[in-house]
Amino acid sequence: MPGVNDLIGGVSPLPRPGGGLLRPRELLENVELITPAFLEERGLRGLLLDLDNTLIPYGSYEDRAEIIAWAAELRRAGIKLYLLSNATARRAQFWLDKLDFVGVGLAGKPLQRSYRRALAAMQLPVSQVGMVGDQLFTDILGGNIAGMYTIMVHPIVNNALPHTHLARRLERLVLKRYGHDWYGKDRRTQMKPEKTL
Ligand SMILES: [Mg+2]
Repeated sequence: MPGVNDLIGGVSPLPRPGGGLLRPRELLENVELITPAFLEERGLRGLLLDLDNTLIPYGSYEDRAEIIAWAAELRRAGIKLYLLSNATARRAQFWLDKLDFVGVGLAGKPLQRSYRRALAAMQLPVSQVGMVGDQLFTDILGGNIAGMYTIMVHPIVNNALPHTHLARRLERLVLKRYGHDWYGKDRRTQMKPEKTL
């Protein structure tokens, strides 16, 4: 009999029961806190990376030397990186050329097709892959459905777009439900432990 995983993509078992598909496994102030040691502690050998507001300010084409250096350091440590962006293919390619790793634009997150393709390209088991992004309803939801280790980072800039504003308010409500005040001073810390069912 088909289970829920078959219906939503069939990549892997759902993340921990009771954890909630909208719950990031970890919250970080920025991606640069992700070091080779951080990944090793968590058994991660590959990362799917969102672009806008995760690696660079939303819509930016300006160089960010520190992010290019950060990505190079991870790759030197043997970490596979893959850009999974909902931006236009052209814009994603512009950044892929600078960042010097592979990936796609128009990923359609949280839909599972691009997550499956990324996993196939990385040739890693899903348990060794993390999804890093700044949005709950695309990056984190899709990563959790895929069964990846999800890491939410604080957005680099606050978008003024009305639909983003609404999404941010909803994100804040969800995160508060998990005992975390996104705009509070303690936002770098890990979530409170889940209740056991
Ligand atoms: Mg983003």
